[in-house]
Amino acid sequence: MESCIFCKIIEGKIPSQKVYEDKNLFAFRDVSPQAPVHILIVPKKHIETLLELGEEHSELIGRIHLTANHIARKEGIAERGFRLVVNCKEDGGQTVFHLHYHLLGGRAMAWPPG
Ligand code: 5GP
Ligand code: ZN
Repeated sequence: MESCIFCKIIEGKIPSQKVYEDKNLFAFRDVSPQAPVHILIVPKKHIETLLELGEEHSELIGRIHLTANHIARKEGIAERGFRLVVNCKEDGGQTVFHLHYHLLGGRAMAWPPG
């Protein structure tokens, strides 16, 4: 999608600190990190929000979770744990409308979120 900032990052039109890439997924460091490790895992296909996911995305969703585990281990945050977050639409705090999973770690997280 032409106006989408994450599509531009995936295409390399906007620079990013890539940490992982495969046929369907791209992961890069958040520009405004909220934890010592803050990585965004995104499908290469432009999907606006979590609500657009259907049965046809089951495998993609599974791959995202496995990739989060893989990156967490590589980043050294698997042992102590981490948080995997999807913000969905306005009340969820979503600001970029290209589905993304936040992988946060390297510090203890508070609950409930603000
Ligand atoms: P949301 O609030 O939609 O769940 O998360 C969007 C995230 O994207 C935010 O954490 C924000 O810092 C990050 N972000 C926004 N623009 C850019 C960018 O151009 N580059 C990178 N690396 N991260 C971005
Ligand atoms: Zn997009």
